[in-house]
Amino acid sequence: MRLFTAFGFAAALLGSAGPALAWGDLGHKVTALIAYRHLTPKARTALDALLAADNDSLTPPDFASRATWADKYRNGHRETAEWHFVDIELDHPDLQTACFGFPTASQRASAGPAQDCVVDKVEEFERELASPSTPPSERLLALKFLIHFIGDLHQPLHASDHMDRGGNCIGLSPSPDGRDSNLHAYWDTGVVLALGGSANEIAAKLDAQIGPADIAAWGRGEAKSWAMESFLLSRKDVYALAAKPTCNDRGFVGLSAAYQVTAQRDAAKQLEKAGVRMAILLNRAL
Ligand SMILES: [Zn+2]
Repeated sequence: MRLFTAFGFAAALLGSAGPALAWGDLGHKVTALIAYRHLTPKARTALDALLAADNDSLTPPDFASRATWADKYRNGHRETAEWHFVDIELDHPDLQTACFGFPTASQRASAGPAQDCVVDKVEEFERELASPSTPPSERLLALKFLIHFIGDLHQPLHASDHMDRGGNCIGLSPSPDGRDSNLHAYWDTGVVLALGGSANEIAAKLDAQIGPADIAAWGRGEAKSWAMESFLLSRKDVYALAAKPTCNDRGFVGLSAAYQVTAQRDAAKQLEKAGVRMAILLNRAL
């Protein structure tokens, strides 16, 4: 979820009822539920122990809900807002620029800097989670940031931008389901809601489509290449629009039936990849 408008910010303060939710809570829960199915017994035990030691009240304590924690945390910690995405420009893709030159993290990755991209944060928090010298409180934060940011990295509009705040400035008319007001919201929420009725149902359905060859293929690469993969998908499908209005234009687009079919297929695949890769990172770190 990227919130730039006053409206979006107000929606965030109101909690999960707002229209501009990240991959929506639903999408993040789906990625975690898929990941949990692919954990080794050792990683699962370690994860469960970490979660049991966490009494943070921002979300319910279960793993799927904890994957939405970083969005709730951001409401009171605006200095973490930029960590949720990487603005790779459609016409001039440059990861280095989009990542603010890959700054050195603070001694504790949860402490900053504020200008850091989701690619860096995934790497930093994985390192902290894996290190036995990380203080327990920081390790818990690392886990909760990591399981959220892997999801964000796979939402194509969290890895691309066209002077439109990641699609937040592209209005939808008509809105495909009468709810999503802009392109970013559609890719966060509407496209996931179209996949099924609940996080458990969607995760089970998507996980059944994942084969050993997928896991082998998706396990290659790292946060940087996964971000570029999301970006290329965005350029190919997300921005396959008749017009690409920027924030200066404040324009509206309509999404064809064919566009929405492609979007649902892409979103399903991205959620599957995010889940499998989350499991790979957790298996490695734990
Ligand atoms: Zn997010």
